[in-house]
Amino acid sequence: MTASCEPRIIMHVDMDAFFAAIEQRNNPDLKGKPVIVGGPPGSRGVVSTCSYEARQYGVHSAMPIAQAVRLCPDGVFLTLDSSAYTFAAHQIKAIFLRFAPAVQMVSIDEAFIDITGSIGQYGSPREVALEIKRTVFREIGITCSVGIGPNKLIAKLGSGLEKPDGLTIIFGEDIEKRLYPLPVGQLWGVGPVTEKHLTSKGINTIGDLARVDAKQLQRELGVNGLYLAGRARGIDDGIVLDDNSRPDEKSISHEYTFDRDTFDLNQIHAMILAMTEKVVARMQKGEWLAGTIALRVRFSDFKTITRQKAVREPTEDLRAIFQTARGLLPSQDVVSQGVRLVGVRVSHIVHRHSENQSELFDCPISSKSRNLGDTIKQLRDKFGDAIITRAGTRIVGK
Ligand SMILES: [Mg+2]
Repeated sequence: MTASCEPRIIMHVDMDAFFAAIEQRNNPDLKGKPVIVGGPPGSRGVVSTCSYEARQYGVHSAMPIAQAVRLCPDGVFLTLDSSAYTFAAHQIKAIFLRFAPAVQMVSIDEAFIDITGSIGQYGSPREVALEIKRTVFREIGITCSVGIGPNKLIAKLGSGLEKPDGLTIIFGEDIEKRLYPLPVGQLWGVGPVTEKHLTSKGINTIGDLARVDAKQLQRELGVNGLYLAGRARGIDDGIVLDDNSRPDEKSISHEYTFDRDTFDLNQIHAMILAMTEKVVARMQKGEWLAGTIALRVRFSDFKTITRQKAVREPTEDLRAIFQTARGLLPSQDVVSQGVRLVGVRVSHIVHRHSENQSELFDCPISSKSRNLGDTIKQLRDKFGDAIITRAGTRIVGK
């Protein structure tokens, strides 16, 4: 995928009662019945998924089976058929990939899809969503609920609002209307400990949290507080983490695996700088200029993403390449998930041209750009030669 400053259109798709729906599809006798997937009556497990018919009895996921039996004695209790669910999930992901290149499965039955580039073909976000829902129903035989918004946070909120078989589109002023009344514990990133901390201070809804000064939250909760302040206002910079992009053939890259997963943005920036320096040193030797700059990140769960950005004019400038690579870092995901590996790659390589280079960036981040020299110096001062020497890198292709 290619990063951009353009507004994004993000979709979150959540299968309705996924395991139960697959069971009902495979055995039509179960349609319309309370189906409870998790284990037979008498087993010690918990409900994994139950059909909407079972929910009417008060059964819900994570409830002990014994309790579900008491609430719904006539329910159909089934053990999990993991391979059937996994197979369906693969088929569903393949459907999503027909509509957009960036698909992030966040669990077996949920995905984020960046549909920004798909709108032209289908007319509107609603049309893309309807076509995906129709295709999933036709080919898989189950329903799903879709949320669409300017980011992952809002999209995920939307998919939960009109289940089952829902379609909720939230942009602009609707964001506050739908987000603010919700309990603060429902905000993505607010765990039980943070929720307790916030409610003890009288911050009960997401709207309450949005009215708290961001700096105060940062003081109390660190960098996570800063992100929560943004999320409470409906802001979320997290990108759709897809692992479908493939490197170009002709490229120069260096990457580094940390001894231990790191959550430290400064350390990661320092490593991006170190990798950029190595890449640029090789480019200068060959008198090459790069047309595309890519950043590779492997998260602590081994999910690996590559984001890339074309520059307007090919460049070998360390600062420009570093700034672009650093700008591709999904900082919020880094801080929340931890990083094992970062790599910098340049591609679309050409030999040096004589003409002057003009504006390099499609979307300059002006204040950051101005301070870049200072940033490089600070990173060097803080992490210095040690980290750069430690970066005994692998060269990955050329
Ligand atoms: Mg679901």
